[in-house]
Amino acid sequence: MEKTLVILKPSCVQRALIGEVISRFEKKGLRLAGMKMVQLTDAILSEHYSHLKDRPFFQRVKDSMQVCPVILQCWEGRNATKVVRSLIGVTNGREAAPGTIRGDFSVSSQENIVHASDSSESAKTELKRFFNDNEIFDYKQSTLANLYAGDEI
Ligand code: ADP
Repeated sequence: MEKTLVILKPSCVQRALIGEVISRFEKKGLRLAGMKMVQLTDAILSEHYSHLKDRPFFQRVKDSMQVCPVILQCWEGRNATKVVRSLIGVTNGREAAPGTIRGDFSVSSQENIVHASDSSESAKTELKRFFNDNEIFDYKQSTLANLYAGDEI
């Protein structure tokens, strides 16, 4: 099973959408393998958003991620990265499809509620960036047989 990183951004925390967003991942059938509240720093955000360093909004995005603590989560499931990306929708909340998290709760390309890893490779790198090994839990999900066919597990 694949593990992937989700960050509930300050826009989610401030608008009291934490429970709503977690509920969507839970109801889909993903397993919560790790979760903590953290105040992010400019240094770790510079690393995390290094692909945006030449964009005019780089500093503004980093600042918006430090407005208050965020919730870091590790979710697990078959093709979890792809599944989570489809649940959150495209970057710009105004363009994200209704029914997705960003489509339902965001009207912004910056204040878009959640971050989620965009590939299996980046999920591995990002989980290492934000979690220690002992903060990720491999307990058994008792509903597995109801969530997947035998050859999908
Ligand atoms: P995603 O979060 O969908 O993977 P990116 O990696 O391209 O998207 O961008 C990272 C974050 O930077 C976005 O989630 C958003 O908060 C912010 N961002 C991206 N594009 C813009 C933009 N044009 N204006 C303002 N903020 C942006």
